[in-house]
Amino acid sequence: MSDDFKGYKGTALETLKKFKARVWGDVEVKTDIDTFIGIILPRSETADGEHIVLKMRTGYNIGIRASKIIDIVENDYKEAHYKIPEKAFPYDPKKPRVMLFGTGGTIASRLDYRTGAVIPAFTPGELYGSVPELADVCNLETEKLYGVFSENMGPEQYIKLAQRIGEEIEKGVRGIVIGHGTDTMHHTASVLSYMVQDSPVPIVMVGSQRSSDRPSSDAALNLIHAVKTAAECDIAEVMVCMFGPTSDEYDLLHRGTRVRKMHSSYRSTFRTIGDTPLARVDKNGFQYMRDDFKRRRNDREVKINAVFDERISIVYYYPNMQPDIIDSLVENGYKGIVIAGTGLGHVNKPLYPALERAKEAGVAVYMTVQTLWGYVQMYVYDTGRDMMEKGVVPLANMLPEAAYMKLGWALGQTEDLEEVKRIMLDPINGEITDREPYNGYLVFQGGIPEVDEFVGQIMR
Ligand code: ASP
Repeated sequence: MSDDFKGYKGTALETLKKFKARVWGDVEVKTDIDTFIGIILPRSETADGEHIVLKMRTGYNIGIRASKIIDIVENDYKEAHYKIPEKAFPYDPKKPRVMLFGTGGTIASRLDYRTGAVIPAFTPGELYGSVPELADVCNLETEKLYGVFSENMGPEQYIKLAQRIGEEIEKGVRGIVIGHGTDTMHHTASVLSYMVQDSPVPIVMVGSQRSSDRPSSDAALNLIHAVKTAAECDIAEVMVCMFGPTSDEYDLLHRGTRVRKMHSSYRSTFRTIGDTPLARVDKNGFQYMRDDFKRRRNDREVKINAVFDERISIVYYYPNMQPDIIDSLVENGYKGIVIAGTGLGHVNKPLYPALERAKEAGVAVYMTVQTLWGYVQMYVYDTGRDMMEKGVVPLANMLPEAAYMKLGWALGQTEDLEEVKRIMLDPINGEITDREPYNGYLVFQGGIPEVDEFVGQIMR
């Protein structure tokens, strides 16, 4: 199909043809209710065939049902420029080398402001063209490993990522940044915390909640702070670097095993759960919020253990769950189940026989809490004790996703369930902690006065 109708099909395509309107045409679209002015945007291969998408003058995109369109007049035509002007990333022998691995997500895109298309920007030259501040910090190298939205990340990608991180560390890189979609960034952050241990340098995951065609995009600031963290920060752990408050002030650095995406659209969506974030970063540097982190070292010794058994699942318990949910996992050959139970870690009584069958079949079953904050405590009620007798192992305050990733990683190493249990209960980097910060869950919501007060108290 010609680029004039990129992605359009069905009645939408027929309507464009009928009124001789093209993708990138600056048009007036008349419907029986109103007239809309804007640029016709291309559509993705999977989009429906019933709507025409217009980028309005306000910057917002709207879909107009083709069957409602009475007329389209093309007043102008703005040809798309998919290429971002590349400027050679300046090399400064005094600056450290930082490696940026791209996996995809919104952060890997930027907008052609003239046409409204979101296009991938990735080479160092393209990044420098859009975010020149990066050159103040380091000599940046980039490698696009994947170009996927993060729901498509999985074991194959985790393993390759861990291996490439190991290779770059051995080559002496000063720090690593991973561009990633935000939706499953916390899954990848936790699995990398297990697969890549004792890193001598920071490994910083970064994304953006708003695409760069929005004036409020967080992409540039997150990227600048992540690259600064990789180049200069003293914390040599797998971290997530994302907006702290809702305004453009600073980013928080979250430990990879304790972080979670908590809001579907806020830029300040990532929160450290059950603990204090590691630090905050802004243009002036780092304010460390704790001192028990692993520090940057000059050696290149890193342990890479990139294995994963995919036959695992998370079961989010809900009232009236039926035992066949557990049975079907067992019958289908799953080797491990993480339950996100209610309250202190509960499921209903009808599930007990199924848990027993899972135990007999040699399936590893672990309990976490769907409240996210707080600990599994299976000694408090009889129900918890009963479940432990049926082989369910409580995982203290491990987040369900961090537990799921760890179980896949543990079963990738051994089938011996005692050994799996030893691995699960032995914290690698904060996935189980002795206690939570007092009232931390009430205040870590970003930007509100009591957060600053709280953070002020604990800041070193
Ligand atoms: N759906 C996207 C992803 O996770 C969202 C983002 O990049 O923030 O890949």
